Amino acid sequence: MTKIAENLAEVRRRMAEAARAAGRDPAEVELVAVSKVQPATAVEEALAAGQTVFGENRVQEAKGKFPDLRESHPALRLHLIGPLQTNKVKEALGLFDVIETLDRPKLAKALAKEAAKAGHCPDCFIQINTGEEPQKAGVLPGEADAFIAEARALDLPIVGLMCIPPVDEEASLHFAFLREIARRNDRGGAPLALSMGMSGDYETAIRFGATLVRVGTGVFGPRPVKAVPADPAGP
Ligand SMILES: *Cc1c(COP(=O)(O)O)cnc(C)c1O
Repeated sequence: MTKIAENLAEVRRRMAEAARAAGRDPAEVELVAVSKVQPATAVEEALAAGQTVFGENRVQEAKGKFPDLRESHPALRLHLIGPLQTNKVKEALGLFDVIETLDRPKLAKALAKEAAKAGHCPDCFIQINTGEEPQKAGVLPGEADAFIAEARALDLPIVGLMCIPPVDEEASLHFAFLREIARRNDRGGAPLALSMGMSGDYETAIRFGATLVRVGTGVFGPRPVKAVPADPAGP
């Protein structure tokens, strides 16, 4: 077994255990393996171990890695988990099955327009800035209900909500908050999915209702850091 296969088995085991401990069906929770910065060979290893859903945070990087992988693995599904610029919407439509970071009216309108042209639209999650952090993307909680309604009125397939809690706060408060926003915006039938939880807190997130967890380092190990160019002057 490769290290990535071992990690995947361990993450899946812990996810299932967390779900059962919360009285939930483990099949309700999907694992998105966050492959940002990892080489395509790492994604291949995960695919070989049965993982089909991946997350990338940059359009450019996804474009470099995934078209080839898709060709050899038709079941592969790719989620965008990083901010999307409106000038990259068209490109994103061709690359991603799910966009988890819909976060402003301008982007919603651009996406609706391009989706109409393309004749298909990725499933969308609305990112909520639950911690109201100025440097973080996402709709402010006070604007969430109006924005969800606006995105639905544009006929975008809004399937869920996503959040990234502040690093220095109790994540569970943010998970519970996101779940509340989802509940009050539920239109019956298919409840909104919840994308929350990363390597450090996915079990907690599952306890609070996550239906999708985004795990990077827990699956692939530490992200490679860019090599520092050698000093041309030499030692
Ligand atoms: C990088 C990233 C993750 C994965 O983080 P890990 O701590 O490596 O699991 C999850 N979600 C988003 C939005 C990310 O950018």
